[in-house]
Amino acid sequence: MPATTTRVLRRPAKSAPTVITADICVLGSGIAGVAAALESARLGRRVVIVDAAPSLGGQAVGSIIGTIIGLYTHGSEPYQITRGIADDLIADLTAEGSLSRRVSMTGTITFQYDEVRLARWIERKVEEAGIRALVGAVLTDVLFEQRRVRHLELATRFGTVRVEAGAYVDASGDATLCYLSGLEIREPDAPVYGSLNFIIEGYDTEAVKDLVIKEVHDRLAERGKQYDLVRHDGFLMHFPGKTVMLANVTHFETPLDPTAGAHMVFEGRRQADNVIRFLRAEFPRIFANAKVRTYGNPGLRQTRWIVGSRQLTLDEIRSGARPPDAAARCAWWVELHNARDLVHWERFEPGHVYYIPLSCMTPRDADNIVAAGRCVDADVSALSAIRVMGPCIAMGTAAAHALDLAGPGSVHTIDLAALQQRLTDNLDRR
Ligand SMILES: Cc1cc2nc3c(=O)[nH]c(=O)nc-3n(C[C@H](O)[C@H](O)[C@H](O)COP(=O)(O)OP(=O)(O)OC[C@H]3O[C@@H](n4cnc5c(N)ncnc54)[C@H](O)[C@@H]3O)c2cc1C
Repeated sequence: MPATTTRVLRRPAKSAPTVITADICVLGSGIAGVAAALESARLGRRVVIVDAAPSLGGQAVGSIIGTIIGLYTHGSEPYQITRGIADDLIADLTAEGSLSRRVSMTGTITFQYDEVRLARWIERKVEEAGIRALVGAVLTDVLFEQRRVRHLELATRFGTVRVEAGAYVDASGDATLCYLSGLEIREPDAPVYGSLNFIIEGYDTEAVKDLVIKEVHDRLAERGKQYDLVRHDGFLMHFPGKTVMLANVTHFETPLDPTAGAHMVFEGRRQADNVIRFLRAEFPRIFANAKVRTYGNPGLRQTRWIVGSRQLTLDEIRSGARPPDAAARCAWWVELHNARDLVHWERFEPGHVYYIPLSCMTPRDADNIVAAGRCVDADVSALSAIRVMGPCIAMGTAAAHALDLAGPGSVHTIDLAALQQRLTDNLDRR
């Protein structure tokens, strides 16, 4: 006989928060936060990873980014510049057929991935590493005193959680941990546009082999306005052997306004629907029956970031000079989405590499926070190059080691030679 009785309860007058303690707390489970959490766990630290979304993976999963870029140099002899967790991810997803390696027109190597499988990879790795995960947990307040974060307050659907950790990684993408700590942050004066990626199905998978993306761009410039489309570039990427294609062709503003979230969803999806109208009408041989299979979450590129001990500049990434506190290596070009119609690209010479210094990941006025991912300190152009997933993984890894070396001390005074020794695969290996 199944139990059919019920209980009657009332919320207790005062409910204490659930308290979780850890050595390292990572705020944000995008690719940077996941790298930081996995590396910290490998270093034997007790780790908690927190995300406001109902599951782990950040934009890499929820915004259907689809391609990992920035792991290799450009040119005729590309080599991998970020290893470690990136190697595990590539090996595991390749083995199960969820990741394919592509040589781009510029000679760099990119990886197309299945976001559903990446999500499961992240969850599996986090569980295997013994990392405590909190999802649906929004950071609402931070106790910050004497240059240190003492604890985080998080709101969940089922009550408040307090996380007390020795050190913190701000991998929130929007520098939320630093902002709520009362630290200085930066916001761009002019918009950097976001995009809502989406998956298309129902197109002709044979005829699509003749699709020339340049023709789509030209047609968008010529007639996109008729379909209420603003962007003239972007990509349509057919997944080999599959019947779906990833589209990244929309552009809209991504203000950090608490009431703007729904507008971004509606605007992004409206543009996505208009892309389908455009493709059906302008390229009917391929797209006559195309439709949207899945809309991703709005993808945010550059919203708010930390004020670090120093800022990485465009001149530095152009020069490629290695700073004394180099913590990660990059090769991706400047890819700035600062106009509604076209992306501003600045290409570097084949083989060009440049570095992210630890000092642009460490908030100037805090001793136990390291930022990683798209919210580190760089000028608007330099950030547009280092925010892609390869460098995000490298920064997450570096953040874990910097906090490990700092222990109860300050990240500003760690032994840099020891840090670089640990990160040699990501700084020196060819
Ligand atoms: C449309 C688009 C296309 C792109 N294309 C590519 C590409 O093809 N290849 C590539 O490599 N890169 C690409 N990029 C860049 C790259 O995807 C992102 O910059 C990168 O994924 C950022 O990772 P992250 O870990 O720094 O942050 P995010 O993935 O943004 O993760 C931050 C996490 O923090 C959480 N968070 C934020 N605030 C709070 C809070 N208050 N409380 C709790 N949690 C919080 C969020 O929920 C989120 O999960 C693209 C970006 C966009 C937007």
